[in-house]
Amino acid sequence: MNDAEKKPLVVDLDQADAGFRDEVAREPGGEGILKCYACGTCTAGCPVRDVSEEYNPRRIIHQVLLGMREDVLDSEFIWYCSTCFTCQERCPQGVKITDIMTALKNMAARSGKTPKAYDMQRNLILEMGRLYELDDFDNKKRGKINLPAIHMKWDELQTMYESVTGKSMKKEVEEVDSQETVVVKAVKVKPKKEETE
Ligand code: SF4
Ligand code: SF4
Repeated sequence: MNDAEKKPLVVDLDQADAGFRDEVAREPGGEGILKCYACGTCTAGCPVRDVSEEYNPRRIIHQVLLGMREDVLDSEFIWYCSTCFTCQERCPQGVKITDIMTALKNMAARSGKTPKAYDMQRNLILEMGRLYELDDFDNKKRGKINLPAIHMKWDELQTMYESVTGKSMKKEVEEVDSQETVVVKAVKVKPKKEETE
């Protein structure tokens, strides 16, 4: 347990939002949150917790149940989750913790609380079609391991997308943006070790 967690968690019930947990429970995957009995299995197996002791998925779930809306949605911690699904596969109560983290990210995004880094990544994809622009230096490195050079430009990617889907990629991204939602891609990784807290 780190110093931050040793501090008593003070909850001002006058400030608590009693409807917050029901709101989260209505999000896709959020329905099981009320079954959490705070066993800590999620936190014990979390690979992000391995590198950041301040990150604690059990605590986030508990804060939701206590109605601590601002503390959860304003927190950078919900964005730490790498969506590895380790906790979700291990939860004895079947709480879909990974889905709940995604739901919380979406709720934060709808309130305009997306971290700047995510906005920047979204804009890079809009402008270039990828997060990182490949240049001659990268293609030289690719050539050294016998990979072909990549010269595709964003307008070529758009043309390809439109010819396959019949839709404008930029327009689709702008429509998603106007809905103020965030799509977080799920990636599964093998848990590093068995732990109990
Ligand atoms: S593993 Fe499941 S029941 Fe245990 S604290 Fe995490 S969410 Fe709650
Ligand atoms: S999905 Fe992975 S990173 Fe996210 S809280 Fe669960 S174990 Fe941690």
